[in-house]
Amino acid sequence: MAAENLHELFVDELKDIYDAEKQLTKALPKMAKAAESEELRAGFEEHLEITRMQVNRLEEVFKSLGIAARGKPCEGMKGLIEEGQEMMQELEKGPTLDAALIASAQKVEHYEIASYGTLATFAEILGMQDAKDLLGQTLEEEKEADERLTQVAGQINFEAEAEGGEEEGEGEEQESGMASAGSRSGSSRGSSGGSSSGGSSSGSRGKSNGSSRTKKR
Ligand code: FE
Ligand code: ZN
Ligand code: FE
Repeated sequence: MAAENLHELFVDELKDIYDAEKQLTKALPKMAKAAESEELRAGFEEHLEITRMQVNRLEEVFKSLGIAARGKPCEGMKGLIEEGQEMMQELEKGPTLDAALIASAQKVEHYEIASYGTLATFAEILGMQDAKDLLGQTLEEEKEADERLTQVAGQINFEAEAEGGEEEGEGEEQESGMASAGSRSGSSRGSSGGSSSGGSSSGSRGKSNGSSRTKKR
């Protein structure tokens, strides 16, 4: 059953991402529901629509190969989704859960970016121009989704930091550390949350510093 050449590997990877995208169409509505931020919720709903189109696009690729569209259980996506669901169970609705949802969604996008990048390259080497174009189109959409998440994180990470600081004096370091991870992921512009939210240095952010920015909603 194992792939013996690049063409067979290409088909295996195609089946993997086809299953992964289908898993995502089930996970994204739950993520949208769990999000407190309107912007984040709308982003998940929009990406759900895009994901459905990506499933259709993969079916076109299968068609171009003359084989039936069939998935093969993607354990990677399953694990990423399960980790996100754990967060939804453990955390109350609010900025910290939103930051966790972004972190989780960005891991998903990066998995997809790796998969589609590989698939597009394989298609090119195999001389499948149509497949390459279709896969490249999806690759660009996944990159856009990742960048958009980085942008949304810019606001949410700071709200999450304030959330911990208001109620308890202890344990907040842990939360802010986790929350800030999302905003840096994948950004090549240096305009993610950390740098756009005022002049406070990362080492000693005061509670009052920049609060007008964090209390927009
Ligand atoms: Fe996708
Ligand atoms: Zn997979
Ligand atoms: Fe995606």
